[in-house]
Amino acid sequence: MANSIAITNPRTGEPDFQLICHELSDVMAKSKQLRLAQKKWWQLSLQDRIKYLQIFAQAITALKPSFVEALIDDTGRANESMLEVDVVIGAIDRWCRQAPELLATQAERSGEIPFLAIKQSYLPYPVVGIISPWNFPLLLSLVDAIPALLAGCSVLLKPSEVTSRVTKPLIKAISEVPMLAEVFSVVTGGGQTGEAVSEVADLICFTGSVATGRKVGEACAKRFIPAFLELGGKDPAIVCEDADLDVAAKALCWGSMVNAGQSCMSLERVYVNKNIADAFIAKLVTEVKQLSHNFPNINQGEIGPIIAPSQVDIVKRQLADAKVKGAQFLTGGRVVELGGGYYCQPTIVSNISDDMDIINQETFAAILPVVIVDTDQEAIRKANNSDFGLSAAVFSQNVEHAEQIALQLEAGAISINDASLTALVHEAEKQSFKYSGLGGSRMGNVSIHRFMRKKAFIRN
Ligand code: NAD
Repeated sequence: MANSIAITNPRTGEPDFQLICHELSDVMAKSKQLRLAQKKWWQLSLQDRIKYLQIFAQAITALKPSFVEALIDDTGRANESMLEVDVVIGAIDRWCRQAPELLATQAERSGEIPFLAIKQSYLPYPVVGIISPWNFPLLLSLVDAIPALLAGCSVLLKPSEVTSRVTKPLIKAISEVPMLAEVFSVVTGGGQTGEAVSEVADLICFTGSVATGRKVGEACAKRFIPAFLELGGKDPAIVCEDADLDVAAKALCWGSMVNAGQSCMSLERVYVNKNIADAFIAKLVTEVKQLSHNFPNINQGEIGPIIAPSQVDIVKRQLADAKVKGAQFLTGGRVVELGGGYYCQPTIVSNISDDMDIINQETFAAILPVVIVDTDQEAIRKANNSDFGLSAAVFSQNVEHAEQIALQLEAGAISINDASLTALVHEAEKQSFKYSGLGGSRMGNVSIHRFMRKKAFIRN
């Protein structure tokens, strides 16, 4: 008999959902079924696989109210929940349109040795394991599953236990496409269920924290299976002396506060040139002061609750550490309890010293520390002085200058004169630097090739 755990609602603080935790034996049984079914799935034509994915998208569309309701209960935010479902439907449609070209059989060719004919082929990984986090629970559960299924793999998904209500409409949508249901299984539970997935899959796509990513990476290394790790960040922004300050202030407000800062691409540090610092900070503070919590009306206000209960103490601790070490809060600065949920006040903080946790560790909340620098070189040095290297942003009206700075930043996804653009632009390939991840680009058309083992046929 599987265990179950109580899941807290982030708006009420009440445990109002009971989640089944699948054990290793359940996960092994599922992976055995998937392995068998994948053979049939792979033998289907690509057009058939596309057809089943399109029916799946229609099922999600038909169930959109249930998805949105579940996501709202999971995350305590409304607008982002609706957007998340739309983005997923759009992504399925895009992959289905692009797959024929991306997976087309390549013609035989000759290489450096003219009398040898070369043909490239591929075989999909039979079982792709996907382990996902809580900040965009539906999107980050499906972003890798869709191309993997189109490539001919089966998928074993373990979503985050923190936001597990959304698995109900997801399982329903999958079950409405019986052929897909044979090759797309969802197992639920916490870390132990995730560990079990790493023990049975042939390839792992993991999105989550560095600490768990390291465990998953080690488990995969022991089995010599590929691991694609999408991990945490402490994304910096640089505002140069010649930046358009209105553009920079608006973009940084959005880029640091969207989803209440609970986004891996959230900007969590800004380095601003001393000559424009006062003017920029004034504009940023004006922007941020317009934000409010989505309490008591979930449809009013931009800042939702802290989604994961474990995050509440982390955010409180970082704020307290900054305060003790002399930080100055220009807006916000506290975690407040409203109706049982915990909300981080939209916070702009200055007077930052290098030893503060708020500038060194991932925060994952609506908090933006501002650091004044003398030169762009100082900004670059400070931006790179981090264990992370996920994304960044540079603001300068001289695009060539901004690109010169971007070249020197140790991060894979860099927005120029905006924030988090790579989350919107699917075709831009990027990799994570340092502890922010490992493996080929999740974004871009090439990402589908991660799910296929390459083969070469060479004929004399
Ligand atoms: P987490 O590492 O706590 O959990 C992620 C998933 O791993 C969950 O499903 C969890 O149950 C599972 N898990 C826990 N222990 C496991 C184990 N030993 N083996 C296998 N699976 C295990 O992360 P989280 O708190 O859910 O997510 C927040 C983190 O995710 C942040 O650090 C954020 O930056 C990161 N994130 C990164 C990206 C990206 O694309 N780089 C996107 C979103 C979130």
